[in-house]
Amino acid sequence: MKEFVTRFAPSPTGRLHLGHAFSALTVYRAAQEANGRFLLRMEDIDQTRCKPEFENAIYEDLSWLGLDWETPVRRQSDHFDDYVSALEILRGKNLVYRCFKTRKDIADEIERAPHLTAQGPEGPAYFGAPLSTDEERALLDKGAPYAWRLSIAAAKGYLGGAYEDLFFTEETPEGERRVKADPSLFGDVVIARKDSGTSYHLASVHDDALQGVTHVIRGEDLYHAAHLHRLLQAIFDYAAPVYRHHRLLMDASGRRLAKRDKAATLTALRESGAEACDVMARLGFSDA
Ligand code: GLU
Repeated sequence: MKEFVTRFAPSPTGRLHLGHAFSALTVYRAAQEANGRFLLRMEDIDQTRCKPEFENAIYEDLSWLGLDWETPVRRQSDHFDDYVSALEILRGKNLVYRCFKTRKDIADEIERAPHLTAQGPEGPAYFGAPLSTDEERALLDKGAPYAWRLSIAAAKGYLGGAYEDLFFTEETPEGERRVKADPSLFGDVVIARKDSGTSYHLASVHDDALQGVTHVIRGEDLYHAAHLHRLLQAIFDYAAPVYRHHRLLMDASGRRLAKRDKAATLTALRESGAEACDVMARLGFSDA
């Protein structure tokens, strides 16, 4: 049987809270149940928001919960070259174009023609187009910053009939679902940001393939990302992992727990005298 490899991939932009603990324990438990491998990956491409102190706190919090993981931990910030190479591949296939527009330019464009823009999972699904060579040259000569967008039209052309046949497998407690992928949900997504030269989507899909991840287990807030990730996997000819998107933890008022909920951070709970077993029981993992 194929080896089972899964991962917990936090971004060290703040302290872990109960929602992260739930996610980490869900992933860890799945690896244990499958007699598989559990990886920890630091998704720290956003160098302005990610901080070493948060990374260290993640190691402490997860150890406190009793988790262990393979080392060395892959830190995405140590591998920007890999993501540049992945982008080169997309450029070589003519699937990306430079976008010099600011958020405001795009918001204005959408406001002028709202009927042309569908709402995607991360905001309006914007579809653009490359500039002419002359226009682009002029902006590049001025040093204008730009992002790279993935052209959905070009991706469709590149994959041909295979684009319409893209599916991903979602495993749920009730069984397996085969979901038709609709990568256009995000529009021409930014695949390499102006600041970091990559994006969550590119780096995460790249690393899952590189690390041989067979099961992507994460919160259902990232469910829609699987539609786009499946497209990237097809373009790069990466094996498609199976997905399990788990429920998110809510606070008392029904809102999703977030980094702003200071009281729910594992650090705060620990400092208030909570034991790891209390936290695990609260999250439904008491039979560990
Ligand atoms: N780094 C992402 C986060 O913190 C998780 C990405 C993933 O699991 O695919 O939400």
